[in-house]
Amino acid sequence: MRANPDRLIRVSVCLRPFRAQGPRIEGERIGEKVVIHNYGHGGSGWSLSWGAAAIAVREALATGEREFAVIGCGAIGLTTALLLQQSGVKVTIYAKDRPNEARSAFATGVWSPDSRICSEEAATPAFAALWEKMCRDSYRKYQTLLGIAGAPVEWRDRYSVSSIPFEELRKKREAEEGPIKFGKFGDLVKNLTPGTEELAPGTHPFGAPYVRRATSMVFNIASFQRILVQDFLAEGGRIVRREFNTVADFANLPEKTVVHATGYGARALLGDESVVPVRGQLALLIPQPEVNYSLSGEDVSMVSRSDGIVVQTSKPTDFNNTDEVPNRADSEAGVLALAKIMAPLWRAV
Ligand SMILES: Cc1cc2nc3c(=O)[nH]c(=O)nc-3n(C[C@H](O)[C@H](O)[C@H](O)COP(=O)(O)OP(=O)(O)OC[C@H]3O[C@@H](n4cnc5c(N)ncnc54)[C@H](O)[C@@H]3O)c2cc1C
Repeated sequence: MRANPDRLIRVSVCLRPFRAQGPRIEGERIGEKVVIHNYGHGGSGWSLSWGAAAIAVREALATGEREFAVIGCGAIGLTTALLLQQSGVKVTIYAKDRPNEARSAFATGVWSPDSRICSEEAATPAFAALWEKMCRDSYRKYQTLLGIAGAPVEWRDRYSVSSIPFEELRKKREAEEGPIKFGKFGDLVKNLTPGTEELAPGTHPFGAPYVRRATSMVFNIASFQRILVQDFLAEGGRIVRREFNTVADFANLPEKTVVHATGYGARALLGDESVVPVRGQLALLIPQPEVNYSLSGEDVSMVSRSDGIVVQTSKPTDFNNTDEVPNRADSEAGVLALAKIMAPLWRAV
């Protein structure tokens, strides 16, 4: 991997739509419309999208309508619109931003179904069961997207490299996550992904004393989004650029049932202060298809995607932080941290 700051081609910031109580997936009547909400998926929106969409679609179809509006075309709006269409109904998406401009376009693109999905207090058995259903439904759907042109989904090895034992590193990271402890559910779906292998010194090329290998799904978001849009349009869907200033604007839509999937946008649109921003900054290095693995160190992680090598850094100040201005210096420091991890490999060639 050529980890050099002068190979950076993009630095971006995205806000995760976190809700302490977990995503809101439920219907309500607003004026003359039935509105099915599907928002607030934290750091798990891509991973849980299909499973969350399936719940929203069931609610929407229960109205008996045959024409639906979906507001938003990020990960949640697009997948919900596609699942609705597949049940044979007509769908129009209305959104302020097109898919490549929506916040979802600036996500890392890994299978992370319990990342910042709810608070530890909200992780009740009932929520855990709902989460597990969404997670397993999404996982099943993602396996059907393997091996198709554009490689929207791939399984990739991921190395974790640390100078301190992983349990210590986990605690250190948790302490840095901000004022909240997040609910964790990974143990419920252990059988979905291969186990983690501990690699003993001498069996790997890294200089660090603690190294692990796991295999996980990566979403090539640029091609994945394009495939979702093409499938939606091919089935007769329409995408209309429209901004809604208040929920009262829904009254102007011709459709009687509206699926509302505006992600972080729901905070302003509904005045829903339960949606809390969790800032995330990513940078892209020039793509290197030959780098066919992911890597995480103590202060940085990287995912090699078809549109670039994603370098991610995080800060204790990310929670409840609305700053969407990228800080290039942070990403450059992340690239240099990666270069340090990779240095022993360069010496080996
Ligand atoms: C740095 C970072 C990395 C992440 N990595 C991952 C990952 O690896 N895996 C994973 O599963 N998740 C990840 N996430 C989380 C994931 O990106 C989000 O959960 C997901 O993008 C939420 O999707 P969404 O469709 O709800 O919202 P958005 O993508 O924000 O889409 C909202 C849509 O609604 C529209 N909209 C909003 N307000 C209005 C309005 N007033 N009028 C009209 N339209 C409106 C927008 O234009 C947009 O089309 C990451 C998030 C961040 C920030």
